[in-house]
Amino acid sequence: MPDETPVEQPDGLSPSDILFECPYCTKSLAINIKGAGRTIVCPDCSNEIQVPYPEEPAENGEEAEAGDTTTDDAGPSNGEALQTELMAAHEQINTLRTELDELRFRRRYLERVYTDNIKTIQSLNRQLALIRNTVEQMDSILKEVSQKSADDTQDLG
Ligand SMILES: [Zn+2]
Repeated sequence: MPDETPVEQPDGLSPSDILFECPYCTKSLAINIKGAGRTIVCPDCSNEIQVPYPEEPAENGEEAEAGDTTTDDAGPSNGEALQTELMAAHEQINTLRTELDELRFRRRYLERVYTDNIKTIQSLNRQLALIRNTVEQMDSILKEVSQKSADDTQDLG
């Protein structure tokens, strides 16, 4: 509990009395709540002073605590702003991670397609090599045949 709550009250004061200090001599004064806003003369220094209006009557102690919590709220509100920024940053990071994952997936997909294509190309090359060999063999066979029958088939070519 803060010290401010129980202002030492002289005897004969009711809790609803306004307690305040004279702005000139800082004398502690008490006046009935009905005197709020009135101008009185300080019994100590004889200056005219205006009686302040009381903050919420009755539960002054709890009011002070409420004030404390509001000042505490000022801190967390800054923290909340930071947290919001952090959340936004996290969301951005998550978005970027998702994009990165998608790009990785696409790269893997393309790599797979690429290797598939390479395999296809390699098998195609093998088949082409086979066909080339066959064609060369047929070529040489045809040459042999054409040489053997050169005399008979000169006009063919
Ligand atoms: Zn005074």
